[in-house]
Amino acid sequence: MKLTVIGGSAACPNPGDAGSSYLVTHDGFSLVLDCGPDSISRLRQHAELRDIGAVLISHLHSDHTLDLVPFRYGLRYIRGPRGPRIPLWMPPDGRNFLDQLGRVFALGAEAREPFFDGEFDIHEYDPDGSFDLGPLSVSFMPTQHFIDCWAMRVRAGGRQLAYLADSAPIDALVDFARDVDVAVCEATLSSREAGSPENSGHMTAAQAGEIAQRAGVRHLILTHLWAEHDLEATASDARSTFAGAITIAASGVQVVV
Ligand SMILES: [Zn+2]
Ligand SMILES: [Zn+2]
Repeated sequence: MKLTVIGGSAACPNPGDAGSSYLVTHDGFSLVLDCGPDSISRLRQHAELRDIGAVLISHLHSDHTLDLVPFRYGLRYIRGPRGPRIPLWMPPDGRNFLDQLGRVFALGAEAREPFFDGEFDIHEYDPDGSFDLGPLSVSFMPTQHFIDCWAMRVRAGGRQLAYLADSAPIDALVDFARDVDVAVCEATLSSREAGSPENSGHMTAAQAGEIAQRAGVRHLILTHLWAEHDLEATASDARSTFAGAITIAASGVQVVV
């Protein structure tokens, strides 16, 4: 597998980066994990939108979903033959979310049909189950966040990737990421912000490192970052708790899983 960071920003895209989005490729198949703001422009630097095999969304916050709108417009209007609809796997209640989002933007003649359905084949996944997307096998775990959110584990070719989405540092993430080759883990909070109730759905780089260390992760990708935090300090905070390889996520960063 190859992981390409499309966007590694937190709630607002950092200068030159995009909101949460990751491209996972294996054996000619391309999976997009999350679709945050500005991610489509960045994704198009690495893939043709119509060549994407599936899209999988961790949760319904706008910093993980907003560019489904330009994604839809790209599939519809970019010059060339329109391909088959792309499977879009939403979390529970994702269908209702897309219907509401689509109603906001389906203006004029576009209001005649559901906004997303012409371009995406929309499903809600069962977070208790696992399923295959092309050559990739995917399973889930609920995180601790401000709304329902699911971490994802992707397996292919004997390798494993864990995308831990948005979460507080809960013990269950350790078991979920056990022995994966690469873990993509958020490090939204600076060390000063940890522990306050309004930050109870995120974690620090040191906490991400501790989870990765306990899980036996080989390579930790720190993501969901604010540019205003010192990213060197973010990496060294993770280094204080994690002995493996550390990479700071930003658009264009690529890692072989
Ligand atoms: Zn979130
Ligand atoms: Zn987020």
